[in-house]
Amino acid sequence: MNPYAKDFPILDQQVNGNPLVYLDSAATSQKPFQVIEAVENYYKTMNSNVHRGVHTLGSRATDAYEGAREKVRRFIHAGSTREIIFNRGTTTGLNLIASSYARDNLKEGDEIIISPSEHHSNLIPWQQVAKKTGATLKYFELEPDGTLDHAKAKAAITDRTKLVAIAHVSNVLGTVFPVKELASWVHAKGGVIVVDAAQSVPHMKVDVQDLDCDFLAFSGHKMAGPTGIGVLYGKESLLNAMEPIEFGGEMIDTVELYDSDWKELPWKFEGGTPIIAGAVGLGAAIDYLESVGMDTIDAHDRHLARYAMERMEEIEGIQIYGPRENRTGLVTFNLDSVHPHDLATVLDAEGIAVRAGHHCCQPLMRWLEVTATARASFYLYNNESDIDRLVAGLRKTKEYFGHVFG
Ligand code: PMP
Repeated sequence: MNPYAKDFPILDQQVNGNPLVYLDSAATSQKPFQVIEAVENYYKTMNSNVHRGVHTLGSRATDAYEGAREKVRRFIHAGSTREIIFNRGTTTGLNLIASSYARDNLKEGDEIIISPSEHHSNLIPWQQVAKKTGATLKYFELEPDGTLDHAKAKAAITDRTKLVAIAHVSNVLGTVFPVKELASWVHAKGGVIVVDAAQSVPHMKVDVQDLDCDFLAFSGHKMAGPTGIGVLYGKESLLNAMEPIEFGGEMIDTVELYDSDWKELPWKFEGGTPIIAGAVGLGAAIDYLESVGMDTIDAHDRHLARYAMERMEEIEGIQIYGPRENRTGLVTFNLDSVHPHDLATVLDAEGIAVRAGHHCCQPLMRWLEVTATARASFYLYNNESDIDRLVAGLRKTKEYFGHVFG
C-alpha cells in the first residue's frame, strides 16, 4: 500500500464494482484531507473579504490569503511576493502575459517561438498576439522522440525573437524541455521566456531564479490543491511595467471621474474579490507536498512511468509516445486500432480512470499522425499495483476488441 494514498479520501471507493485506480492526475489531481480540511476550516472560522475589512474575520482572511502567497513564493523560490499573482490557473496566467506584455511590446517583424507540442492554452494566446500585433509565430522543430535538439533550438532563436513560450513538461509526451538553456539563449538575444509549468510544478522542484524564466504559470488543481486557483510568477521589473487587463475593485489606488491608478504589485493584477479559499487550499497543498518532499515525488512519479512503459511494452500492439529518458510521470499510448475512447470506456468498467482524446494538443496529435491517444498519468498516491491493474485492463481490452474486429 502506498503510504500517501490513505490521505486521499476519494481513492477509497469502488467504481463499477472495482476498487478505483485513478490514473488521470495530469488532468487534475486528487486532494488530501489536509487540503479539504483547510478549505473547510477557512469557511468555518475566517470567511470574509480580504484587504478591506477592519474587523477580525477580515484580517484573519487577509492573513491566510497573503500567507498562502508567501508559501507559493517560497515553494518556487521567487525573490518577492510581489512576483506572485493569484488567478484562476495556467490558462489565465498565460493569457495575461499575451494580452498585456506581448500585445504592448511586440510588433511586425518580431518573432514568437513556441513548440508544436504546446497545450492549446500556450498556443492560441500566441496566435492571437501574432494576429493583433503583426508579429510572426514560429515553431521549434521537434525531434522524432518529442524532444528538442539543443543546437537547433538555439539556432532558431535570433535577434528577431522577442518571446519564447514553452511547457516545462509536455502533458502528452512527458518531455522535460530545457527551460534553463532556452532562457539563457533567448535572453542573449534580448527576448523573454514564458514557461507553462502546469505539469512541472506539481511533480518536481521548480526554482524560478535558477531557471531565470521571465514568466511562469501553473494551476493549483494539478498539485493537490483546489480547482479555481492558479499562480502567475513574473519578474518584478517586467510586471511593474505591465498594464492590468482586468479593472475594478481591489486593484485600484485612487479612482477619479476620468482617471484611476493602480495598487502596487501584485494586487494591480488581482481585480475583484480574489479566490481566497482556493489560495488557502493551495497553501495547504504546498505544505502537504513539502511534507512528502518534491524530490521524493519526482523520483516516485518517474519510477512509475518507467515501470508502466516496461509493463505496457509487453503487450503486442502498444504504441507509446514521447522520449524514453528524462520524462515525467505520464505515459501516452495507443493500442492497436482500438479507439482511445473505447479503450478508456473498457478500463472505466474495470474501475480504472485514464484520459482519452487530443489532450488539448491538436497540433501535436497531427504531428504524431493520430487523431487521439490514451494517457495514464501518475502521482504520489499511485503505486506499481495500480499499473498492474492498468496492464491487466489493457490485456482485457485487447482480447475484447480482438474478438470484435478479429
Ligand atoms: N498547460 C498544460 C501543459 C496543461 O497540462 C494544462 C492542463 N491540462 C494547461 C496548460 C491548462 O491548465 P488549466 O486548465 O488549469 O488552466
